[in-house]
Amino acid sequence: MKTLTKQQLKEFAFAQGLDLFGVANIERFKNAPRDMSPVSIFPEAKSVIVIGKRIVRGAWRGIEEGTYWPTYTYFGYHGMLNSYFIHYPMYELACLIEDYGYEAVPVYPGVTAEDRATVLPPVRRGASPADVHLNIRIAGVAAGIGEIGWSKIFMTKKFGPRVRLACIITDMKIEPDPLVEPGSICDKCMQCVKGCSACAIPHRKENKTVKIQIEDKTYEWGDVHMGRCTLSYHGGDSENSPFIHRDFPGWNMKVSEQDMSEETAYKFAWTLSQNNWRKSKEHPSGWLNEGHHYLHHWGEAGSYGVEGSRGCMRSCFNHLEKKGTIEQTFKGGDFIKRERWLLPCKVAGIRAEKKNE
Ligand code: SF4
Repeated sequence: MKTLTKQQLKEFAFAQGLDLFGVANIERFKNAPRDMSPVSIFPEAKSVIVIGKRIVRGAWRGIEEGTYWPTYTYFGYHGMLNSYFIHYPMYELACLIEDYGYEAVPVYPGVTAEDRATVLPPVRRGASPADVHLNIRIAGVAAGIGEIGWSKIFMTKKFGPRVRLACIITDMKIEPDPLVEPGSICDKCMQCVKGCSACAIPHRKENKTVKIQIEDKTYEWGDVHMGRCTLSYHGGDSENSPFIHRDFPGWNMKVSEQDMSEETAYKFAWTLSQNNWRKSKEHPSGWLNEGHHYLHHWGEAGSYGVEGSRGCMRSCFNHLEKKGTIEQTFKGGDFIKRERWLLPCKVAGIRAEKKNE
């Protein structure tokens, strides 16, 4: 029988356009809950290959300047990167593995839902729930590609937090990569906390953390308020969305004071971006929020970003680049070049404008 080596797999992955490649043996997932374990998906699994691709730094330029939103959603978030740029080469890699007689399960890196009330019961006695969500960031740590930073963002030495991941579960036994030393990338500088206007990331002084153990290493990060994160990121945040200022006169909702769950935040923000309203003189577009609707469209009907990871990504990689932690450097200097913008939380209402006339 033909043999396939780890080196061949790695070279093939990079030749297909992927930037990151690492392998975890299945034993590294022994602490994973059943509804998040690769073994629940493929009981004969021996290895999890995690692959990834960088998000180009320029994907955020328009949002950082407050002038142009589609690039991040289309190229850096859900649109092409999470729907095509990673998955086409990953699928080719899975085909290569199966050409050599091993089974390969390519896994879409969906977000692990906070609300587990929707988990489906097992389809047969003794089986795992019929709704397994592998945590791709933890898989990335287990495969030695990087670590999870304080803000819960996955980060690598090469690109910092500017990466997206996916994985293949296989019954091919592959030598695992060494784990990254905890704290060797994230230095707990708290720039992410400062940059997140939603106040979703706790300060280290608050002692709100999540910990996982893989082999002899403990990884720890801040217990992020996912309701505020989701609400701000997906467009419930007037401080970060000029589109709210156009379509919701009178809005006055400070995200940092909200305490809704992640699921409720999605329900709220996605309702605003997906649905229409009658065309009127006051609201001629016919959409609840025209700008968010078109961003959702750029996300290829998947997901979209309005707030654009102000703290957890932009503040973070700006800091790590300055410090020289990230291997990829830029001739033009710092990413954050100008005073950062935030809009007023309270959106000037029509009545208020008329009063001033
Ligand atoms: S900004 Fe980045 S490096 Fe600094 S604490 Fe946050 S995640 Fe860690």
